[in-house]
Amino acid sequence: MKNSHEKRRVGILGATGMVGQQYISLLEGHPWFTVTHMVASPSSAGKTYAEAVEGRWHMNGSVPKDVQKLVVHTVDDLKAVAKNCDFVFSALDSDIAKEWEEKYAAAGIPVVSNASTHRMTPDVPMIIPEVNPEHLEMITIQQKNRGWDKGFIVVKPNCSIQSYVAPLATLHKKFKIKSVVVTTMQAISGAGHPGVASLDILENVVPLIKGEEEKSELEPRKIFGSIKGDKIVHDESFTISAHCNRVPTIDGHMACVSFSCEKKPTEKEILAAWKDFKGPPQELSLPFAPVQAITYLTEPNRPQPRIDRNRDKGMTVTVGRLREDPVFQWKFVGLSHNTIRGAAGGGILIAELLKAKSYV
Ligand code: NAP
Repeated sequence: MKNSHEKRRVGILGATGMVGQQYISLLEGHPWFTVTHMVASPSSAGKTYAEAVEGRWHMNGSVPKDVQKLVVHTVDDLKAVAKNCDFVFSALDSDIAKEWEEKYAAAGIPVVSNASTHRMTPDVPMIIPEVNPEHLEMITIQQKNRGWDKGFIVVKPNCSIQSYVAPLATLHKKFKIKSVVVTTMQAISGAGHPGVASLDILENVVPLIKGEEEKSELEPRKIFGSIKGDKIVHDESFTISAHCNRVPTIDGHMACVSFSCEKKPTEKEILAAWKDFKGPPQELSLPFAPVQAITYLTEPNRPQPRIDRNRDKGMTVTVGRLREDPVFQWKFVGLSHNTIRGAAGGGILIAELLKAKSYV
């Protein structure tokens, strides 16, 4: 293990895609991590990163200078990864992730994944650093289960749930959430690039994102769950019903949420719970931790994706419109940046926590 002051060398799997580009962009000048390796499909492999993303760079500004000349590798070049990296971020399509992430972990390379492949694997922790950092203890159990030495897999949950899981987590601890109905309005960047055809989404709303409702209903149960023996046991004390829609915004997933608790909280108690909700411990000084993990806006017409998605580097969850619900107890609107908080930024925050706890 390197000493805690040394920068960690990082690989990005799927570096040319929507999430991969966000990793490259956010990691520019990162104080703890340096990008030293990149993987993409055979059509990008062998090119420099600048050549591979030419004409399809979607981030603000230019391709960061220090990665422009890095050569893109194929996913099977495990020797190069082991030589060049201390750990990798995976932003691979889930079918490729399914084939490769375990091979990386078995080869001694820790994987922080954005893919859905291992989210429901019982010994793989699914982490939101502010909500369930204690699930990182699964890493040692996972390594024991699999006979892995240095490698492991940690995953980040689906982007669609980021805008309401943290606000519900803090209420669940205090008042026991029982039932939730959530309707999401998800940005087109959530489908990657080229993603949804413009003819399907402009001037339109698509009321189906394949597999998304199931993930939205199940993943919070694992995140709120607890470690028992050699796996994470889901918290089945509450039920979520989700409607997931693709809407013509570019970035920022919004969610309208109605919920009831075992004991109805007051408005004051809910707002206090959100205000007091803390991120990872301050003394860890994680560079990507938002100042305020949940930001409540009192303006009656907020949050809005275009105006609010980039608050606090795109890492805070912005909520608003808390009001009583005539069917459930309360309702609110939540918003998070899907490729930052919901993807690359969320992955980086997990990796920072892993480094602070000496896992990488
Ligand atoms: P994307 O834009 O389609 O990018 C896919 C990436 O995978 C590209 O870099 C692509 O390389 C690479 N790839 C494809 N086939 C490959 C192969 N055979 N070997 C190695 N690399 C290969 O998708 P995305 O939106 O970035 O999503 C990436 C992952 O993150 C997915 O699992 C997705 O579900 C998850 N995710 C996405 C979001 C979001 O908001 N977009 C949020 C959370 C999680 P080429 O460019 O060379 O084809």
